[in-house]
Amino acid sequence: TRQALINAEKLASMGQLSAGIAHEINNPLGVILLYGKTMLEDCPPDSEEYQDLQMIVEQAERCKNIVSGLLNFARKNKVNLKPTNVRDLIDRCLKTIIKPDNIQIEVEHRLKTEIVEVDADQIIQVLTNLINNAIEAMPQGGAIRIQTLDHQNEWQIIVEDNGCGIPDHILPKIFEPLFTTKKEGKGTGLGLAVTYGIIKMHHGKIDVWSNADPQKGPTGTRFTITLPKQGAWQTILNSDKH
Ligand code: ADP
Ligand code: MG
Repeated sequence: TRQALINAEKLASMGQLSAGIAHEINNPLGVILLYGKTMLEDCPPDSEEYQDLQMIVEQAERCKNIVSGLLNFARKNKVNLKPTNVRDLIDRCLKTIIKPDNIQIEVEHRLKTEIVEVDADQIIQVLTNLINNAIEAMPQGGAIRIQTLDHQNEWQIIVEDNGCGIPDHILPKIFEPLFTTKKEGKGTGLGLAVTYGIIKMHHGKIDVWSNADPQKGPTGTRFTITLPKQGAWQTILNSDKH
């Protein structure tokens, strides 16, 4: 649709702009960090300046994380497609997730053929972003359901949670780089922007359904990712050339 097109263009130009700024900030920030750390090392821990210096280094580290996230977001514009077993891919992803005890993760595989053609590292990054968001949406605990399924000529991964949900007025903004509703220091607003970019490069689609209003029914969020099947890639890559 037209709105989706406008959003995609806006995203692309915002990505370029933010990457440009990130690049410019990267070097001076590196210098601040280097000097800050050196001063911290030389500073007696019981002195007055120690905590101030600590704060400077800590906050500069934070900036560094945001900047490198932005650079990643802009740099990665290639997919390295390889036949991959989805089951292994999801297992690999779940091994690296730090999950609180009050959150259950359930995986259901319904794909007929479990081999798909993806850039495994990138899809793991996508799933990590979605799962971490789900965990962060359920501070009181809850359940995450991950499903793989066939969908016409494509295949899908669904990541679903029963957390707080996303209010309707927020929903159109969630894929924008740097958009976050999380407290200072908690979110960078890059997770879904990176996710969107990766899925786009895979010629896929990402849809979101969410309910944040308990009056309307159970709250929660569902992200559905639709990707080409292994056999479809040759056609896609051929038509890309024209
Ligand atoms: P971040 O997690 O750093 O805030 P993201 O790009 O990952 O950035 O997400 C952007 C925003 O989308 C979040 O701040 C949050 O408001 C919303 N969001 C994303 N996923 C969920 C979810 N599963 N449940 C509720 N809100 C979500
Ligand atoms: Mg996130």
